[in-house]
Amino acid sequence: MRKQVPKGKGNMSEILETIKARDPHEREFHQAVMEVLESVKPVLDQNPQYRQAAVLDRIVEPERIVSFRIPWLDDEGSVNVNRGFCVEMSSAIGPYKSGLRFHPSVNQSILKFLAFEQVFKNALTTLPLGGGAGGSDFDPKGKSDDETMRFCQNFMTELYLHIGVNTDIITGDIGVGPREIGYLFGMFKKLSNEFTGALTGKGLNWGGSLIRAQAAGYGCVYFAAEMLATRNMAFEGQKCLVSGSGNVAQHTAEKLIELGAKVITLSDSSGYIHDPEGVDKDKLAYVKLLKNIRRGRIQEYADKYPGAVYMAVDHNLDYNPLWSHRAACAFPCATQNEVSEKDAYNLINNNIKLVCEGANMPCTPEATDIFLDKPMLYGPAKAANAGGVAVSGLEMVQNSMRLNWLGEEVDNRLKIIMKQIHHTCLDAAEAYGTPGNYANGANITGFVKVVEAMLDQGVV
Ligand code: NDP
Repeated sequence: MRKQVPKGKGNMSEILETIKARDPHEREFHQAVMEVLESVKPVLDQNPQYRQAAVLDRIVEPERIVSFRIPWLDDEGSVNVNRGFCVEMSSAIGPYKSGLRFHPSVNQSILKFLAFEQVFKNALTTLPLGGGAGGSDFDPKGKSDDETMRFCQNFMTELYLHIGVNTDIITGDIGVGPREIGYLFGMFKKLSNEFTGALTGKGLNWGGSLIRAQAAGYGCVYFAAEMLATRNMAFEGQKCLVSGSGNVAQHTAEKLIELGAKVITLSDSSGYIHDPEGVDKDKLAYVKLLKNIRRGRIQEYADKYPGAVYMAVDHNLDYNPLWSHRAACAFPCATQNEVSEKDAYNLINNNIKLVCEGANMPCTPEATDIFLDKPMLYGPAKAANAGGVAVSGLEMVQNSMRLNWLGEEVDNRLKIIMKQIHHTCLDAAEAYGTPGNYANGANITGFVKVVEAMLDQGVV
Protein backbone atom coordinates (compact mmCIF):
# COMPACT_ATOMS: atom_id res chain seq x y z
CA MET A 1 0.00 0.00 0.00
CA ARG A 2 1.14 3.52 -0.77
CA LYS A 3 2.07 5.66 2.23
CA GLN A 4 0.01 8.77 2.92
CA VAL A 5 1.80 11.92 1.78
CA PRO A 6 1.26 15.43 3.12
CA LYS A 7 -1.46 17.33 1.30
CA GLY A 8 -0.11 19.63 -1.39
CA LYS A 9 -1.77 22.55 -3.18
CA GLY A 10 -2.14 20.79 -6.51
CA ASN A 11 -4.30 23.62 -7.84
CA MET A 12 -3.40 24.48 -11.42
CA SER A 13 -4.00 28.22 -11.40
CA GLU A 14 -2.19 28.59 -8.07
CA ILE A 15 0.77 26.66 -9.47
CA LEU A 16 0.95 28.88 -12.52
CA GLU A 17 0.75 31.99 -10.33
CA THR A 18 3.49 30.62 -8.10
CA ILE A 19 5.93 29.91 -10.92
CA LYS A 20 5.21 33.32 -12.48
CA ALA A 21 5.76 35.07 -9.15
CA ARG A 22 8.94 33.13 -8.48
CA ASP A 23 10.51 33.71 -11.89
CA PRO A 24 8.53 36.46 -13.63
CA HIS A 25 10.91 36.70 -16.61
CA GLU A 26 10.75 33.03 -17.58
CA ARG A 27 8.11 33.40 -20.31
CA GLU A 28 9.13 30.34 -22.33
CA PHE A 29 9.01 28.18 -19.22
CA HIS A 30 5.58 29.52 -18.22
CA GLN A 31 4.34 28.79 -21.75
CA ALA A 32 5.57 25.18 -21.66
CA VAL A 33 4.05 24.57 -18.21
CA MET A 34 0.71 26.15 -19.14
CA GLU A 35 0.38 23.91 -22.17
CA VAL A 36 0.92 20.74 -20.14
CA LEU A 37 -1.33 21.86 -17.28
CA GLU A 38 -4.22 22.53 -19.65
CA SER A 39 -3.91 19.02 -21.11
CA VAL A 40 -3.66 17.12 -17.85
CA LYS A 41 -6.63 18.69 -16.05
CA PRO A 42 -8.93 15.71 -16.77
CA VAL A 43 -6.25 13.33 -15.50
CA LEU A 44 -6.03 15.22 -12.21
CA ASP A 45 -9.82 15.29 -11.92
CA GLN A 46 -9.95 11.51 -12.29
CA ASN A 47 -6.97 10.86 -10.00
CA PRO A 48 -7.31 12.82 -6.74
CA GLN A 49 -4.19 11.08 -5.39
CA TYR A 50 -2.09 13.14 -7.80
CA ARG A 51 -3.32 16.42 -6.34
CA GLN A 52 -2.97 15.07 -2.84
CA ALA A 53 0.66 14.17 -3.46
CA ALA A 54 1.26 17.64 -4.96
CA VAL A 55 2.80 16.16 -8.08
CA LEU A 56 2.20 19.36 -10.05
CA ASP A 57 3.88 21.54 -7.43
CA ARG A 58 6.88 19.22 -7.60
CA ILE A 59 7.06 18.58 -11.33
CA VAL A 60 7.36 22.30 -12.22
CA GLU A 61 10.38 22.77 -9.98
CA PRO A 62 13.70 21.47 -11.38
CA GLU A 63 15.41 18.91 -9.17
CA ARG A 64 18.63 20.86 -9.66
CA ILE A 65 19.97 23.87 -11.59
CA VAL A 66 23.66 24.64 -11.85
CA SER A 67 24.80 27.92 -13.35
CA PHE A 68 28.47 28.55 -14.02
CA ARG A 69 31.07 30.79 -15.66
CA ILE A 70 32.97 29.77 -18.79
CA PRO A 71 36.01 31.93 -19.49
CA TRP A 72 37.82 31.19 -22.77
CA LEU A 73 40.48 32.72 -25.00
CA ASP A 74 39.64 33.78 -28.56
CA ASP A 75 42.11 33.67 -31.46
CA GLU A 76 43.27 37.23 -30.71
CA GLY A 77 44.19 36.21 -27.17
CA SER A 78 41.32 38.15 -25.57
CA VAL A 79 39.42 36.67 -22.65
CA ASN A 80 35.69 36.08 -23.18
CA VAL A 81 33.16 35.02 -20.57
CA ASN A 82 29.97 33.09 -21.20
CA ARG A 83 27.37 31.66 -18.90
CA GLY A 84 26.61 27.94 -18.72
CA PHE A 85 23.66 26.04 -17.27
CA CYS A 86 22.76 22.51 -16.39
CA VAL A 87 19.04 22.10 -15.65
CA GLU A 88 18.07 18.70 -14.22
CA MET A 89 14.29 18.64 -14.23
CA SER A 90 13.15 15.11 -13.39
CA SER A 91 14.84 11.78 -12.72
CA ALA A 92 11.59 9.99 -11.86
CA ILE A 93 11.88 7.36 -14.59
CA GLY A 94 15.62 7.33 -15.29
CA PRO A 95 18.81 9.40 -15.43
CA TYR A 96 18.39 12.88 -16.89
CA LYS A 97 18.76 12.97 -20.67
CA SER A 98 19.56 16.50 -21.77
CA GLY A 99 19.91 18.36 -25.04
CA LEU A 100 22.75 20.90 -25.02
CA ARG A 101 22.13 24.24 -26.73
CA PHE A 102 24.76 26.88 -27.62
CA HIS A 103 23.01 30.04 -28.82
CA PRO A 104 23.14 33.72 -27.75
CA SER A 105 19.48 33.54 -26.68
CA VAL A 106 20.13 30.80 -24.11
CA ASN A 107 19.05 31.67 -20.58
CA GLN A 108 17.51 29.86 -17.64
CA SER A 109 13.97 30.22 -19.00
CA ILE A 110 14.79 28.62 -22.35
CA LEU A 111 16.60 25.73 -20.70
CA LYS A 112 13.84 25.17 -18.11
CA PHE A 113 11.29 25.04 -20.94
CA LEU A 114 13.44 22.57 -22.89
CA ALA A 115 14.06 20.45 -19.79
CA PHE A 116 10.35 20.43 -18.90
CA GLU A 117 9.38 19.34 -22.42
CA GLN A 118 12.12 16.72 -22.38
CA VAL A 119 10.67 15.04 -19.27
CA PHE A 120 7.40 14.18 -21.01
CA LYS A 121 8.98 13.50 -24.40
CA ASN A 122 11.42 11.01 -22.90
CA ALA A 123 8.60 9.29 -21.04
CA LEU A 124 6.77 8.90 -24.36
CA THR A 125 9.69 7.13 -26.03
CA THR A 126 9.14 4.09 -23.74
CA LEU A 127 12.84 4.32 -22.74
CA PRO A 128 13.82 4.73 -19.06
CA LEU A 129 15.09 8.31 -19.32
CA GLY A 130 14.48 11.37 -17.16
CA GLY A 131 14.63 14.91 -18.54
CA GLY A 132 16.99 17.86 -18.42
CA ALA A 133 18.64 20.49 -20.59
CA GLY A 134 21.92 22.35 -20.66
CA GLY A 135 23.71 24.98 -22.63
CA SER A 136 25.32 28.35 -22.88
CA ASP A 137 24.83 31.77 -24.45
CA PHE A 138 28.03 31.10 -26.45
CA ASP A 139 27.45 31.56 -30.19
CA PRO A 140 29.37 29.01 -32.29
CA LYS A 141 28.52 31.00 -35.44
CA GLY A 142 31.61 32.69 -36.82
CA LYS A 143 33.96 31.04 -34.33
CA SER A 144 37.04 29.18 -35.53
CA ASP A 145 37.46 25.49 -34.74
CA ASP A 146 40.13 26.41 -32.18
CA GLU A 147 37.87 28.91 -30.43
CA THR A 148 35.02 26.41 -30.34
CA MET A 149 37.36 23.76 -28.96
CA ARG A 150 38.65 26.03 -26.20
CA PHE A 151 35.11 27.01 -25.27
CA CYS A 152 33.86 23.40 -25.24
CA GLN A 153 36.80 22.27 -23.13
CA ASN A 154 36.23 24.99 -20.54
CA PHE A 155 32.48 24.32 -20.56
CA MET A 156 33.16 20.65 -19.84
CA THR A 157 35.50 21.36 -16.92
CA GLU A 158 32.36 22.28 -14.97
CA LEU A 159 29.72 20.15 -16.72
CA TYR A 160 31.59 16.87 -16.17
CA LEU A 161 30.91 17.20 -12.43
CA HIS A 162 27.20 16.78 -13.12
CA ILE A 163 26.96 14.28 -15.98
CA GLY A 164 27.53 10.55 -16.32
CA VAL A 165 26.03 7.49 -17.90
CA ASN A 166 23.83 6.89 -14.83
CA THR A 167 23.33 10.55 -13.90
CA ASP A 168 22.79 12.90 -16.83
CA ILE A 169 23.44 12.04 -20.47
CA ILE A 170 24.10 14.85 -22.91
CA THR A 171 23.28 15.18 -26.60
CA GLY A 172 23.24 18.02 -29.17
CA ASP A 173 20.56 20.67 -29.72
CA ILE A 174 20.80 24.04 -31.51
CA GLY A 175 24.43 24.99 -32.08
CA VAL A 176 25.78 21.69 -30.78
CA GLY A 177 26.62 19.38 -33.67
CA PRO A 178 29.29 16.73 -34.32
CA ARG A 179 32.16 19.25 -33.98
CA GLU A 180 31.03 20.43 -30.56
CA ILE A 181 30.14 16.93 -29.31
CA GLY A 182 33.64 15.77 -30.35
CA TYR A 183 35.40 18.50 -28.36
CA LEU A 184 33.07 18.06 -25.38
CA PHE A 185 33.54 14.30 -25.34
CA GLY A 186 37.34 14.58 -25.62
CA MET A 187 37.46 16.74 -22.49
CA PHE A 188 34.88 14.62 -20.64
CA LYS A 189 36.96 11.51 -21.30
CA LYS A 190 40.14 13.19 -20.09
CA LEU A 191 38.58 14.55 -16.90
CA SER A 192 36.62 11.45 -15.96
CA ASN A 193 39.28 9.00 -17.14
CA GLU A 194 36.62 6.77 -18.68
CA PHE A 195 35.18 6.10 -22.12
CA THR A 196 31.44 5.88 -21.49
CA GLY A 197 28.24 6.83 -23.24
CA ALA A 198 27.64 9.96 -21.12
CA LEU A 199 27.40 11.90 -24.39
CA THR A 200 25.42 10.76 -27.42
CA GLY A 201 25.62 11.94 -31.02
CA LYS A 202 29.24 10.77 -31.00
CA GLY A 203 31.30 10.14 -34.16
CA LEU A 204 30.61 6.79 -35.80
CA ASN A 205 34.14 5.50 -35.27
CA TRP A 206 34.19 6.33 -31.56
CA GLY A 207 30.92 5.05 -30.14
CA GLY A 208 28.25 6.87 -32.14
CA SER A 209 25.15 5.22 -33.55
CA LEU A 210 24.12 5.07 -37.17
CA ILE A 211 20.91 7.11 -37.77
CA ARG A 212 21.49 9.29 -34.64
CA ALA A 213 22.15 12.36 -36.80
CA GLN A 214 19.04 11.66 -38.88
CA ALA A 215 16.80 10.53 -36.01
CA ALA A 216 14.86 13.68 -35.04
CA GLY A 217 14.08 14.59 -38.66
CA TYR A 218 13.34 11.07 -39.89
CA GLY A 219 11.28 10.36 -36.77
CA CYS A 220 9.27 13.53 -37.33
CA VAL A 221 8.39 12.40 -40.86
CA TYR A 222 7.56 8.86 -39.65
CA PHE A 223 5.21 10.38 -37.09
CA ALA A 224 3.64 12.66 -39.71
CA ALA A 225 3.20 9.70 -42.08
CA GLU A 226 1.28 7.87 -39.34
CA MET A 227 -0.93 10.93 -38.87
CA LEU A 228 -1.59 11.20 -42.61
CA ALA A 229 -2.41 7.50 -42.79
CA THR A 230 -5.34 8.06 -40.39
CA ARG A 231 -6.84 10.15 -43.24
CA ASN A 232 -5.76 7.73 -45.98
CA MET A 233 -3.13 10.19 -47.19
CA ALA A 234 0.60 9.83 -47.97
CA PHE A 235 3.48 12.17 -48.83
CA GLU A 236 3.81 11.28 -52.51
CA GLY A 237 3.43 14.48 -54.55
CA GLN A 238 2.58 16.70 -51.53
CA LYS A 239 4.14 20.15 -51.28
CA CYS A 240 5.84 20.70 -47.91
CA LEU A 241 7.14 23.78 -46.10
CA VAL A 242 10.19 23.19 -43.90
CA SER A 243 11.82 25.90 -41.76
CA GLY A 244 15.40 25.81 -40.51
CA SER A 245 18.37 24.30 -42.29
CA GLY A 246 20.15 22.62 -39.39
CA ASN A 247 20.15 19.02 -38.27
CA VAL A 248 16.40 18.53 -37.85
CA ALA A 249 15.39 20.49 -40.97
CA GLN A 250 17.95 18.71 -43.19
CA HIS A 251 16.82 15.24 -42.18
CA THR A 252 13.13 16.10 -42.23
CA ALA A 253 13.61 17.34 -45.79
CA GLU A 254 15.71 14.28 -46.68
CA LYS A 255 13.04 11.80 -45.58
CA LEU A 256 10.25 13.85 -47.19
CA ILE A 257 12.12 13.86 -50.51
CA GLU A 258 12.71 10.10 -50.20
CA LEU A 259 8.95 9.61 -49.70
CA GLY A 260 8.13 11.59 -52.83
CA ALA A 261 7.14 14.91 -51.26
CA LYS A 262 8.19 18.27 -52.72
CA VAL A 263 10.03 20.44 -50.17
CA ILE A 264 9.76 24.07 -51.31
CA THR A 265 11.25 26.08 -48.41
CA LEU A 266 14.21 26.11 -46.01
CA SER A 267 15.47 28.91 -43.75
CA ASP A 268 17.99 30.15 -41.23
CA SER A 269 17.85 33.03 -38.76
CA SER A 270 18.65 35.54 -41.54
CA GLY A 271 15.92 34.57 -44.04
CA TYR A 272 14.37 31.81 -46.12
CA ILE A 273 14.47 30.36 -49.62
CA HIS A 274 11.46 29.42 -51.71
CA ASP A 275 12.26 26.91 -54.44
CA PRO A 276 9.08 26.26 -56.47
CA GLU A 277 10.81 23.38 -58.31
CA GLY A 278 11.53 21.66 -55.02
CA VAL A 279 14.69 20.88 -53.08
CA ASP A 280 15.90 17.59 -54.54
CA LYS A 281 18.60 15.20 -53.28
CA ASP A 282 21.45 17.08 -54.97
CA LYS A 283 20.27 20.45 -53.74
CA LEU A 284 19.95 19.05 -50.23
CA ALA A 285 23.51 17.68 -50.45
CA TYR A 286 24.56 21.26 -51.26
CA VAL A 287 22.63 22.57 -48.21
CA LYS A 288 24.43 20.05 -45.97
CA LEU A 289 27.80 21.14 -47.34
CA LEU A 290 26.84 24.81 -47.01
CA LYS A 291 25.54 24.58 -43.42
CA ASN A 292 27.58 21.76 -41.87
CA ILE A 293 31.00 22.20 -43.46
CA ARG A 294 31.23 25.71 -44.89
CA ARG A 295 28.98 27.13 -42.13
CA GLY A 296 27.44 29.52 -44.68
CA ARG A 297 24.04 31.21 -44.95
CA ILE A 298 20.93 29.85 -46.69
CA GLN A 299 20.92 32.92 -48.94
CA GLU A 300 23.71 31.25 -50.95
CA TYR A 301 21.21 28.56 -52.05
CA ALA A 302 19.38 31.15 -54.17
CA ASP A 303 22.70 32.25 -55.74
CA LYS A 304 23.47 28.66 -56.71
CA TYR A 305 19.94 27.74 -57.85
CA PRO A 306 18.48 30.77 -59.69
CA GLY A 307 14.99 29.19 -59.77
CA ALA A 308 14.83 29.81 -56.01
CA VAL A 309 14.05 33.13 -54.34
CA TYR A 310 15.64 34.36 -51.10
CA MET A 311 13.80 36.63 -48.68
CA ALA A 312 15.63 38.21 -45.75
CA VAL A 313 13.91 38.31 -42.35
CA ASP A 314 11.83 41.50 -41.99
CA HIS A 315 11.52 42.34 -38.31
CA ASN A 316 8.69 44.80 -39.05
CA LEU A 317 6.38 41.94 -40.04
CA ASP A 318 4.26 40.12 -37.46
CA TYR A 319 4.33 36.99 -39.61
CA ASN A 320 6.89 34.89 -41.46
CA PRO A 321 6.23 34.82 -45.24
CA LEU A 322 7.68 31.28 -45.34
CA TRP A 323 4.36 30.06 -43.91
CA SER A 324 2.34 31.97 -46.55
CA HIS A 325 3.18 29.60 -49.40
CA ARG A 326 0.50 27.14 -50.40
CA ALA A 327 1.38 23.59 -49.34
CA ALA A 328 -0.21 20.47 -47.88
CA CYS A 329 2.16 20.04 -44.93
CA ALA A 330 4.31 22.28 -42.75
CA PHE A 331 7.32 21.27 -40.64
CA PRO A 332 8.65 24.02 -38.35
CA CYS A 333 12.17 22.76 -37.59
CA ALA A 334 14.12 25.87 -36.50
CA THR A 335 13.30 27.19 -33.03
CA GLN A 336 10.65 28.04 -30.41
CA ASN A 337 7.72 30.34 -31.21
CA GLU A 338 8.54 30.61 -34.92
CA VAL A 339 4.90 30.11 -35.98
CA SER A 340 2.76 33.04 -34.83
CA GLU A 341 -1.02 33.43 -34.72
CA LYS A 342 -0.93 35.19 -38.08
CA ASP A 343 1.25 32.45 -39.57
CA ALA A 344 -1.30 29.90 -38.37
CA TYR A 345 -4.11 31.77 -40.11
CA ASN A 346 -2.02 32.02 -43.29
CA LEU A 347 -1.46 28.27 -43.23
CA ILE A 348 -5.13 27.55 -42.57
CA ASN A 349 -6.26 29.94 -45.31
CA ASN A 350 -4.03 28.01 -47.71
CA ASN A 351 -5.79 24.81 -46.69
CA ILE A 352 -2.89 23.20 -44.83
CA LYS A 353 -3.56 19.54 -44.00
CA LEU A 354 -0.83 18.86 -41.46
CA VAL A 355 1.54 20.76 -39.18
CA CYS A 356 4.19 18.59 -37.54
CA GLU A 357 6.73 20.09 -35.11
CA GLY A 358 10.37 19.16 -35.69
CA ALA A 359 11.59 21.98 -33.42
CA ASN A 360 10.66 22.27 -29.74
CA MET A 361 7.60 24.46 -29.07
CA PRO A 362 7.79 26.17 -32.50
CA CYS A 363 4.14 27.23 -32.43
CA THR A 364 2.94 29.98 -30.11
CA PRO A 365 0.00 29.05 -27.84
CA GLU A 366 -2.29 31.13 -30.10
CA ALA A 367 -1.14 29.24 -33.21
CA THR A 368 -1.52 25.88 -31.47
CA ASP A 369 -5.09 26.73 -30.41
CA ILE A 370 -5.96 27.65 -34.01
CA PHE A 371 -4.61 24.33 -35.32
CA LEU A 372 -6.36 22.32 -32.61
CA ASP A 373 -9.61 24.05 -33.41
CA LYS A 374 -9.54 22.92 -37.06
CA PRO A 375 -10.04 19.49 -38.58
CA MET A 376 -6.38 19.43 -39.74
CA LEU A 377 -3.64 17.23 -38.23
CA TYR A 378 -1.36 18.82 -35.63
CA GLY A 379 1.68 16.84 -34.37
CA PRO A 380 3.19 18.33 -31.17
CA ALA A 381 6.96 18.40 -30.69
CA LYS A 382 6.97 16.17 -27.62
CA ALA A 383 5.74 13.31 -29.77
CA ALA A 384 6.88 14.29 -33.26
CA ASN A 385 10.57 15.00 -32.56
CA ALA A 386 11.03 12.29 -29.91
CA GLY A 387 13.00 10.25 -32.47
CA GLY A 388 16.15 12.23 -31.61
CA VAL A 389 16.18 11.22 -27.97
CA ALA A 390 14.92 7.74 -28.80
CA VAL A 391 17.98 7.01 -30.95
CA SER A 392 20.20 8.67 -28.33
CA GLY A 393 18.78 6.02 -26.00
CA LEU A 394 19.61 3.36 -28.57
CA GLU A 395 23.16 4.75 -28.79
CA MET A 396 23.46 4.29 -25.01
CA VAL A 397 22.24 0.68 -25.35
CA GLN A 398 24.84 -0.05 -28.05
CA ASN A 399 27.59 1.57 -25.93
CA SER A 400 26.66 -0.58 -22.92
CA MET A 401 26.66 -3.70 -25.07
CA ARG A 402 29.93 -2.63 -26.73
CA LEU A 403 28.56 -3.20 -30.22
CA ASN A 404 27.17 -1.26 -33.18
CA TRP A 405 23.89 -2.08 -34.85
CA LEU A 406 23.47 -1.72 -38.61
CA GLY A 407 21.77 1.46 -39.78
CA GLU A 408 18.78 -0.54 -40.98
CA GLU A 409 18.26 -2.02 -37.53
CA VAL A 410 18.37 1.39 -35.81
CA ASP A 411 16.06 2.88 -38.43
CA ASN A 412 13.57 0.03 -37.98
CA ARG A 413 13.61 0.51 -34.22
CA LEU A 414 13.05 4.24 -34.74
CA LYS A 415 10.07 3.54 -37.00
CA ILE A 416 8.58 1.18 -34.41
CA ILE A 417 9.07 3.72 -31.61
CA MET A 418 7.44 6.53 -33.63
CA LYS A 419 4.53 4.25 -34.51
CA GLN A 420 4.11 3.34 -30.84
CA ILE A 421 4.20 6.99 -29.77
CA HIS A 422 1.58 7.79 -32.41
CA HIS A 423 -0.77 5.05 -31.19
CA THR A 424 -0.21 5.91 -27.52
CA CYS A 425 -1.03 9.57 -28.16
CA LEU A 426 -4.20 8.71 -30.05
CA ASP A 427 -5.32 6.23 -27.37
CA ALA A 428 -4.74 8.68 -24.51
CA ALA A 429 -6.48 11.52 -26.37
CA GLU A 430 -9.47 9.25 -26.97
CA ALA A 431 -9.53 7.94 -23.38
CA TYR A 432 -9.68 11.48 -21.99
CA GLY A 433 -12.40 12.71 -24.33
CA THR A 434 -10.41 14.61 -26.97
CA PRO A 435 -10.09 12.17 -29.88
CA GLY A 436 -7.49 13.15 -32.49
CA ASN A 437 -5.85 15.73 -30.20
CA TYR A 438 -2.23 14.58 -30.30
CA ALA A 439 -1.12 17.42 -28.01
CA ASN A 440 -3.36 16.22 -25.19
CA GLY A 441 -2.44 12.62 -25.92
CA ALA A 442 1.31 13.31 -25.70
CA ASN A 443 1.08 15.41 -22.55
CA ILE A 444 -1.21 12.97 -20.76
CA THR A 445 0.82 9.86 -21.62
CA GLY A 446 4.11 11.41 -20.53
CA PHE A 447 2.59 12.97 -17.43
CA VAL A 448 0.93 9.78 -16.14
CA LYS A 449 4.10 7.74 -16.55
CA VAL A 450 6.22 10.30 -14.68
CA VAL A 451 3.80 11.02 -11.84
CA GLU A 452 3.14 7.32 -11.22
CA ALA A 453 6.90 6.89 -10.74
CA MET A 454 6.93 9.91 -8.43
CA LEU A 455 4.18 8.42 -6.28
CA ASP A 456 6.03 5.11 -6.05
CA GLN A 457 9.23 6.85 -4.96
CA GLY A 458 7.76 9.03 -2.20
CA VAL A 459 8.36 12.70 -1.52
CA VAL A 460 11.92 13.28 -2.71
P1 NDP B 1 20.76 23.35 -35.54
O1 NDP B 1 21.63 24.26 -34.77
O2 NDP B 1 21.35 22.24 -36.30
O3 NDP B 1 19.84 24.20 -36.56
C1 NDP B 1 19.00 25.20 -36.10
C2 NDP B 1 18.37 25.89 -37.31
O4 NDP B 1 17.37 26.78 -36.84
C3 NDP B 1 19.36 26.71 -38.11
O5 NDP B 1 18.94 26.76 -39.43
C4 NDP B 1 19.23 28.07 -37.44
O6 NDP B 1 19.64 29.17 -38.24
C5 NDP B 1 17.75 28.14 -37.18
N1 NDP B 1 17.47 29.01 -36.04
C6 NDP B 1 18.01 28.95 -34.80
N2 NDP B 1 17.55 29.95 -34.04
C7 NDP B 1 16.71 30.65 -34.82
C8 NDP B 1 15.93 31.80 -34.60
N3 NDP B 1 15.91 32.42 -33.42
N4 NDP B 1 15.18 32.24 -35.65
C9 NDP B 1 15.18 31.61 -36.85
N5 NDP B 1 15.92 30.52 -37.10
C10 NDP B 1 16.66 30.06 -36.11
O7 NDP B 1 19.67 22.81 -34.49
P2 NDP B 1 18.73 21.53 -34.60
O8 NDP B 1 18.31 21.32 -36.00
O9 NDP B 1 19.38 20.44 -33.87
O10 NDP B 1 17.49 22.00 -33.71
C11 NDP B 1 16.35 22.66 -34.29
C12 NDP B 1 15.17 22.49 -33.37
O11 NDP B 1 14.90 21.09 -33.19
C13 NDP B 1 15.33 23.05 -31.96
O12 NDP B 1 14.09 23.51 -31.50
C14 NDP B 1 15.75 21.83 -31.14
O13 NDP B 1 15.44 21.98 -29.78
C15 NDP B 1 14.89 20.76 -31.81
N6 NDP B 1 15.33 19.38 -31.63
C16 NDP B 1 16.59 18.97 -31.99
C17 NDP B 1 16.94 17.64 -31.85
C18 NDP B 1 18.27 17.12 -32.26
O14 NDP B 1 18.50 15.90 -32.11
N7 NDP B 1 19.18 17.93 -32.78
C19 NDP B 1 16.01 16.66 -31.28
C20 NDP B 1 14.69 17.18 -31.01
C21 NDP B 1 14.40 18.50 -31.17
P3 NDP B 1 21.08 29.84 -38.02
O15 NDP B 1 22.04 28.94 -38.68
O16 NDP B 1 20.96 31.18 -38.66
O17 NDP B 1 21.28 29.95 -36.55
